[in-house]
Amino acid sequence: MVRYSDELLDEIRMRNDIVDVVSQYVTLKRKGRNYFGVCPFHNEKSPSFSVSPDKQIFHCFGCGVGGNVFHFISKIENIGFIESVQMLAERVGMELPNSSNAEDEKIANLKAKVYEVNKASAEFYHLNLYKPTSKMAQEYIKKRKLDNNTLKAFLIGYAGDGNELFSYLKSKGFGPEEMLASSLIGKTESGRYYDKFKRRIMFPIQDVRNRVIAFGGRVLDDSKPKYINSPENIVYSKGRNLFALNVAKRAEPGMLKRILIVEGYMDAISLYQRGIKNVVASLGTALTDAQGRLLRKNSEQVILRV
Ligand SMILES: [Zn+2]
Repeated sequence: MVRYSDELLDEIRMRNDIVDVVSQYVTLKRKGRNYFGVCPFHNEKSPSFSVSPDKQIFHCFGCGVGGNVFHFISKIENIGFIESVQMLAERVGMELPNSSNAEDEKIANLKAKVYEVNKASAEFYHLNLYKPTSKMAQEYIKKRKLDNNTLKAFLIGYAGDGNELFSYLKSKGFGPEEMLASSLIGKTESGRYYDKFKRRIMFPIQDVRNRVIAFGGRVLDDSKPKYINSPENIVYSKGRNLFALNVAKRAEPGMLKRILIVEGYMDAISLYQRGIKNVVASLGTALTDAQGRLLRKNSEQVILRV
């Protein structure tokens, strides 16, 4: 049976704006935040079929049908879910992988492993922060006045001097392939493995589903570079995520009323500690289109504060 990954489905859904898609079948008129038209699924004269561009869903107040863009296509074209995915992928010129292909299966497995490596590493760094050997990091945390709740909420950690992470991951049974793919471990030309982040405060970057996808590491002193971030890899593509969105959503589940965007890790974290929990960091100077879509999907109102 054909199965597509959640990431792929998200991508197809994001690229097929529901208002555009529905408009190919129904004449829509904007009314406030939503669009309305005559329902194609039941007989009616006055429009009770609504489409929400913010939530990317449709709903008919007359007959009760509703769902996302896939549901709409499968219903109106009278095709199955998989066919609707294929149709919408084709609409935006996306190639779909053939899941019977062994190569895709391998990539999917490696991705799943890398998420596990990232999670184990975030926990390792976090616990490491509390160890007596991490005195310098603890002093930095004290100076920045971060309390324990904040450290836990963001899983803030510390990468020490040596190659402790590599030893730890190895002891947990992880293999070289997934360790290297996580970008946390490197390999010298002579074949020795080493920790890439050293003597840095570690900020795990998590997606909305609380999966650790990357890390930012900050030095304790004034040396350069101040921050090192994970490079793009099999689970991380820059500019597609927002730091702390998962934490904001935990504080206010569902659609956020408003969200505040700041630039850096510490901006978001210190506001959180002062009780302002609906805050995310863009981790860059300009918001990308993907970040914009992510914000509109999760919050009614967006406030920029850079
Ligand atoms: Zn209807």
